[in-house]
Amino acid sequence: MHEMGIAEQLVKIALDAIPKDIQNPRVETVHLKIGKLASVVEQSLTFCFEIITKDTPLEKARLHIESVPVRVHCKSCDQSWEVTGPVFQCPFCEDGDVEMISGREIEIISLELEDAP
Ligand SMILES: [Zn+2]
Repeated sequence: MHEMGIAEQLVKIALDAIPKDIQNPRVETVHLKIGKLASVVEQSLTFCFEIITKDTPLEKARLHIESVPVRVHCKSCDQSWEVTGPVFQCPFCEDGDVEMISGREIEIISLELEDAP
């Protein structure tokens, strides 16, 4: 299950992002951006996240996942478009010289901290 590794990475980044001057911080929501080609199963990621955040400031934090569409760019004719199928050929000039510009990312956009009681 590769979601466990991803969850571990995300938790590390999130913990580093919490300002050090906050006492007993609690994270309420973690906003994530996940590309459609990153092959992350949302349920598995949430499950792994819950396990490894136990006894950390991220315990019980909700994951808010924004799915990023796959976009590619054609180097030959400078068009870019969203890909929904497996074909990576430029529909404009029918050249094969295309590069992916989004769709594989796994990123934390922001953290929402709970207000201190
Ligand atoms: Zn093209």
